[in-house]
Parts: sequence; C-alpha cells; structure tokens
Amino acid sequence: MKDTARVILTTKCPRRCSYCVNEYPGVLESARQFRFMHDMVRMAERYQVVCLTGGEPMIAMPEHATAMAFVLKHSYPNMKVYLYVSAYHSWDDMAEILKVIDGVHYTLHASGGMEDLGKFYLFQDMARGYPGKSHRLYIHPHFLQDVTLVHGVWSRVELKPWLGPEDCCLPDNEDLYIWRDQ
Ligand code: SF4
Repeated sequence: MKDTARVILTTKCPRRCSYCVNEYPGVLESARQFRFMHDMVRMAERYQVVCLTGGEPMIAMPEHATAMAFVLKHSYPNMKVYLYVSAYHSWDDMAEILKVIDGVHYTLHASGGMEDLGKFYLFQDMARGYPGKSHRLYIHPHFLQDVTLVHGVWSRVELKPWLGPEDCCLPDNEDLYIWRDQ
C-alpha cells in the first residue's frame, strides 16, 4: 500500500539546473494528472503523507500551494504535508504556509549564490517561530557558499551526490501526481 503522494504543483522554475528531475526521461509522463484542487484532495484521502513540490511552487504559485496545504490539513488533520522549496518570493508567503504544513524540505542548489543564501538564512530565522515542525535540508555538493546552520531548526541535513536519471526513481511507497492547470 503506497502511503505517500508526491504532487508536482508546477514545473515553472527560474533555475535551469542541468540535473533537474523533471527533465529526466519519463518522469512527468508517469505522473497522474489532476485538473482541480478538489480532485487532488479527494485522491489524497488514501495517503498518510503528501509532498507538495515543483518546479518552485513558492515562486510560481504561492497562494495555490498554501491553499492546497490548508485544504489537505483541514480535510485530513492526521495527514503530514511537506513542502519542497529552494526559493521563495516573500517572507509573508512562507510565513503563511508554515502555519499549516508539517515541514519544509529545503534545497540549496549548485547554482545558488548569495541571494539564495540570504533567503535561506531568513527561512531559518522564520522557522524558529514555528516549533514542532520537521524540516529537512539538502545541500548540493556544488553549492559554493559556506552555510551556517541554526541549532534546532533541522531534523535532517544531507550533503550527498544528486541522483542522476539512471539512479533516480520514485520510491516504492509513493505515487506521483501533476497539476494539469499550471
Ligand atoms: S530548482 Fe529544482 S525544479 Fe528548478 S530547475 Fe533546479 S532541480 Fe529543477
């Protein structure tokens, strides 16, 4: 029984990572499409965990991402909802969605510069105001800036090679969905 839904809310992203999973052969084609938010909420009933990802939802569609997280948590209070980000537009957007979700999976990408680092430090500061969440950090080995971590914010920190198309596959316990109206 699969317990996790990975939901691609958007494929829009300002970066052009050479290793973007969405460019790997067959990945997007393998995703089940949904057109309306209420369809995804209905399908989510069978899962214990939903991972909202992209693209970069907190740049392309922060209001929709927050609405989706809110409706999922409201409909299924015991469900864990996580958000995948490597960038976001505004402090207010992140503060709003942090009220609802169970944690953020934050990535510092190979192409990241000082602006990414600044946003990351802002996020760490913000996250201290929302205790009880489970945040994970992945630092790409080619991220070129030194990173200082705030104690108590991260439940897991990883620095390891990115999986290429030959090694990357959806875990056995996950289903992949994509929002068609993006
Ligand atoms: S930040 Fe993520 S979604 Fe955007 S291009 Fe890089 S790997 Fe792809």
